[in-house]
Amino acid sequence: MASETTTAESYVEKPKTLAALREEISSGRTKAADLANEYYARIEKKNPRLNIYLSFTKERAMAQAAHIDNLAAKGDPLPPLAGIPTGLKDVMVVQGAPSTAGSKILQGYQPPYDCTAVARLEAAGAVLLGKLNCDQFAMGSSNENSAYGPVRNPVDTERVPGGSSGGSAAAVAANLAVATLGSDTGGSIRQPASFCGVVGVLPTYGRVSRYGLIAYASSLDRIGPFSANVRDAATLLGVIAGHDPKDATSSAAPVEDYAAQSDKPVKEPGKGGLRIGVPAEYFAEGLDPEVRAAIEKGIAALEAAGCAIKPVSLPHTKYAVPTYYLVATAEASANLARFDGVRYGYRSPRSATLSDMYSHSRDEGFGAEVKRRIFLGTYALSAGYYDAYYLKAQQVRRILAEEFLRAFAEVDAIVTPTSPFPAFKIGEKTGDPLAMYLADIYTVTASLAGICGVTVPCGTTQAGLPVGMQILARHLGESTAFRVARAVEAANS
Ligand code: GLN
Repeated sequence: MASETTTAESYVEKPKTLAALREEISSGRTKAADLANEYYARIEKKNPRLNIYLSFTKERAMAQAAHIDNLAAKGDPLPPLAGIPTGLKDVMVVQGAPSTAGSKILQGYQPPYDCTAVARLEAAGAVLLGKLNCDQFAMGSSNENSAYGPVRNPVDTERVPGGSSGGSAAAVAANLAVATLGSDTGGSIRQPASFCGVVGVLPTYGRVSRYGLIAYASSLDRIGPFSANVRDAATLLGVIAGHDPKDATSSAAPVEDYAAQSDKPVKEPGKGGLRIGVPAEYFAEGLDPEVRAAIEKGIAALEAAGCAIKPVSLPHTKYAVPTYYLVATAEASANLARFDGVRYGYRSPRSATLSDMYSHSRDEGFGAEVKRRIFLGTYALSAGYYDAYYLKAQQVRRILAEEFLRAFAEVDAIVTPTSPFPAFKIGEKTGDPLAMYLADIYTVTASLAGICGVTVPCGTTQAGLPVGMQILARHLGESTAFRVARAVEAANS
């Protein structure tokens, strides 16, 4: 059992690579079942302090591990994620397993079906260990909005892991899973990846099916992977990406071999290097000097690897946070209407009348941040305010997207800090929702524009806190983002 006096360092541990584990499992040197048990034992040790896992899917995990061990014993070819211990942010549904979205209102809800992303992970041989803590309904930037308590950052347990997919990032950082999935609506994969020192991927909107993802803001929500290195993240994206007849917004574009693409250097022999855009708007006031220094060092490494570095301009960036919080809360207020005490989860016992039951169930079942957003969103959509707020936000969203398109005519990728500061202390920003919203300043733009990106570790501060570089690429440009991320990773290792 981890005690309060355990040093922070003991929580950080790098998982083996997919390639190394695959080799061990296919040669029979490691049994998938033993590997799963090893992870459960480590979880038992570290989870009481870190609060990463909310629930376990052990029976399912051990059945899958036995299946993989059988294949290996027969010498059958193994699927790409054979025996890999994985975890899933608790906003994705798994048949018969608790799926809470970090909320009280969905406590006890056991969905009757699997989300597409987990079905694809398992078809590729992955072993699902359990469900990971997150901000309630994926609303937050610190994982402090979970109804089940905050996750602690394995790098420094007094600090937040970022949010909302804090559990997914922290699980990889502490080696409580080799890889995990999270969701990103305004930064919830990229920012926690940055805070915990792991790799996180924001796929292009529609690249990964949202079927079975408990919706926050449907025009922004994406599912993507976390891992300890870029190549593994690319492999994982290749597994979960692709058209799904169950999600009308999923893209029919062919899925590239992202892992193989990521092997290409940023400068191929006989060709010009990739063109990297640096937007001044992301290096303005409010950026922590140590974060700036780490990102500038990363940019210098890209230049040394043969990239051409160019300034680009994204002048509407300053409107992105208010635009995002209007669009996201408007959609959230509609999506969360379904949680009424009738169809799912929690029902208040204080229900003299039907309308009492609705309001008490919602009042008692939703946390403060979720309610704040339902209010904001309902207000932005209400008659008389719709044009001034929601419609205006949609227009600004369009301008932001066009600005990126123009920039990508000149450059192959854009690099920025992922967050203006490293992981902050637990409790530091909870009293000031606006300060918390501003933490998303560098991530919400790509969310609004629908483009893709990767966050990759790019140095640490003097206090040892990880800094993540955000690498953005055009729609369906994941391969390019992975190539750039590989170069940054190589310079840092
Ligand atoms: N922090 C942002 C928010 O609270 C992003 C959340 C997310 O990406 N799910 O809305």
